[in-house]
Amino acid sequence: DSYVEPDIGKSKRTKEQLEEIQKRLDEFKLSDEILQQIMDILEAEMEKGLNRGTHSEADVKMLPTYVCQLPTGKESNDILALDLGGSNFRVLFIRLRENEEPVIVNKVFIVSESIMKGTGEKLFSHIANCLYLFMKNHNLDMTRTYPLGFTFSFPCRQLGLSNSILLRWTKGFLCSDVVGEDIVATLQKYIDARGDIKVKVCVLINDTVGTVMSTAYYDRKTALGLILGTGTNACYIENVDRIGILESYVDPDQKQMLVNTEWGAFGENGSIDFIRSRYDEEIDKTSINVGKQIFEKMVSGMYLGELVRLMILELIDRELIFVDEMKKNAYRHALFTKGSFYTKYLNEIETDSNSKFTRTKRILKELAGIENPSHEDCAVVKCICMAVTKRAAKLTAAGLAVILKRMNRAECTIAVDGSLFRYHPRMQAVVEKTLTNLVSSLNKFKIVLSTDGSGKGAAVVAAVAVENDPIFK
Ligand code: BGC
Ligand code: MG
Repeated sequence: DSYVEPDIGKSKRTKEQLEEIQKRLDEFKLSDEILQQIMDILEAEMEKGLNRGTHSEADVKMLPTYVCQLPTGKESNDILALDLGGSNFRVLFIRLRENEEPVIVNKVFIVSESIMKGTGEKLFSHIANCLYLFMKNHNLDMTRTYPLGFTFSFPCRQLGLSNSILLRWTKGFLCSDVVGEDIVATLQKYIDARGDIKVKVCVLINDTVGTVMSTAYYDRKTALGLILGTGTNACYIENVDRIGILESYVDPDQKQMLVNTEWGAFGENGSIDFIRSRYDEEIDKTSINVGKQIFEKMVSGMYLGELVRLMILELIDRELIFVDEMKKNAYRHALFTKGSFYTKYLNEIETDSNSKFTRTKRILKELAGIENPSHEDCAVVKCICMAVTKRAAKLTAAGLAVILKRMNRAECTIAVDGSLFRYHPRMQAVVEKTLTNLVSSLNKFKIVLSTDGSGKGAAVVAAVAVENDPIFK
């Protein structure tokens, strides 16, 4: 019974109470008509982003990536990679050989809150230091120059594979003096300043691009990449002649290029305010990037737990949930602390059994010291989680549908990565179901969890970029 919405207590609540609760859950519902409307708006925003005349005022930036070819499987080299901007910071070493399965070693390093919100100098010297530690601990040849591919999961204006200006920080990052800088050159400067490692930063890619490339390594039908993790974004294969904002030279033989949509910024001009709830507004108002990444704040892992928490608080205020509990020592409850309701709780609560609510009870106790939540209150918490997840999944599917229609391929593999998509028990199913409803049966799609976009993906892009460079032979 665990995937079914539980009964929120018809026998235990008054009709008015039930209606009050239901009204709030309903705010998260999205009908097919509304989704269609969202799709139309997003499609127009994407057009705006791609065109030179409208790009500067567009929310959805549709950034050129200068990645014009999928991997062939023939790429070969020993490559370092960095992965910054998701739930972990990692350093990787990838050994690519033709006709051999890539060998990847990686290590997670901590990027503390104080680094995420400190100076750019602190961030980049930390990254260079982690790189050094990794190379030393893995006994890499310190006399040799290694190419490095940087998976940097933030919006960048690229003028080429190794020329990438940070447009803004997103998610939990807010380092000073980095926006507007060339990230490849900056990292190179900090690596060189150390003097103890020889590494050449060759390419910078977005994580969506890495996801597509690593999946395309095995499946040539891959044309769309989705990240649903701490943040959200998608990239896809666009015809070069439809990318009006290309600034740099592209070989005329290249007819297609991956475009990084940066759809997380969708809605900044108010275009989707009609589906935003007051919880969404609250999340935005108390965030470190007010007014920014509006779509991302409704969809991605960094925010879903907080959305659930805010809705629970609203019900507490109206004495619709935990009424007896709050009479005891309400001030002590961690539920009142911003960020205390982790998105991973949604995974557990939504798979909890409707007859016992064992996990829900444990979480409520651990988190908020709520000792004996009633069965009906647990049911409400589960319904809130399911409503929040479902809305996120549907919005994601709407975004994917716009892109599938735009590409209009008979078959398309969608490569997906990100902690929310990977670990949430229902996310994939709801995205798939909604997407099937939204696109024509002439645009068949298949969703594939990507394996290691920031390893394999970054490595294949870097390998191609340095193919003819003698210093890496
Ligand atoms: C960033 C994107 C990134 C996405 C997923 C967003 O916040 O703007 O560049 O792809 O998160 O990591
Ligand atoms: Mg990641």
